[in-house]
Amino acid sequence: MASRERKAELLESLAEIRSRVASASPATPALLVAVSKYKPASDIQVCLEDGQLDFGENYVQELVEKAKELPLEIRWHFIGALQSNKAKTLAAIPNLYAIQTLTSEKAASALNKALPSDRTTPLNVLIQVNTSGEEAKSGLAPLSEDNPSGELTKLAKFIVNQCPRLRLQGLMTIGALEQSLNSGDDNADFERLKETRNLLHGFLLSEFQDTGKGKWGAETGDGRLLLSMGMSSDFEVAIKAGGDIVRVGTGIFGSRKTKAEMAP
Ligand SMILES: *Cc1c(COP(=O)(O)O)cnc(C)c1O
Repeated sequence: MASRERKAELLESLAEIRSRVASASPATPALLVAVSKYKPASDIQVCLEDGQLDFGENYVQELVEKAKELPLEIRWHFIGALQSNKAKTLAAIPNLYAIQTLTSEKAASALNKALPSDRTTPLNVLIQVNTSGEEAKSGLAPLSEDNPSGELTKLAKFIVNQCPRLRLQGLMTIGALEQSLNSGDDNADFERLKETRNLLHGFLLSEFQDTGKGKWGAETGDGRLLLSMGMSSDFEVAIKAGGDIVRVGTGIFGSRKTKAEMAP
């Protein structure tokens, strides 16, 4: 259990982030995913008791352990590097809500195949887009007017055509750190993700017409593909640029150790 001090601290930062999300949002607030990597289950429990249902995790094993320990009402979002040989482990988590980091047909088919037959809802997937083109970041190339189709449209078509147990919920990006630090309200990576979404949406509509109904976008939406963009340092800019889902870790849970520091 979290100490009284920790609980108070978490509730205060969660309330602050929520209110900042709400004021940056046009109407319905953007979906806040609390990124809990490296943080104990007791921290998650505090946020959950305060009504926070969406949590993001980067590491398969860590997610598996937390999911076992914590209530089923949590909606888990996997936001880490996805290897297709881990698809089965992820798919077995009953309350896995979304995979935000899909980049290959191989991983998409592995997930589609591995989802247990008693799962009643499709698994949401978002294709990760490398909007900044940095080598260290994963993701498929964005689309542009000059380049309106490519690997990304191919993967989207594959998901809709070949993966009936997945729902293409949208696109996700991280973007360059410099963009979020230096650009004020004008983030080129977020603009690229939005343009990519618009082009992909047009592609899907022309490709599938009415037969594609309900296979992409939010469960309760008009088929608009969602944008997952914005982290602690830039989520307000992302929301103002049209983001639907923000992923906030440090802003809620405080700073965390690096991957190297976490190694046993
Ligand atoms: C860790 C992580 C976040 C959260 O980052 P903060 O800067 O701590 O808010 C968001 N998205 C992804 C993909 C991450 O790996």
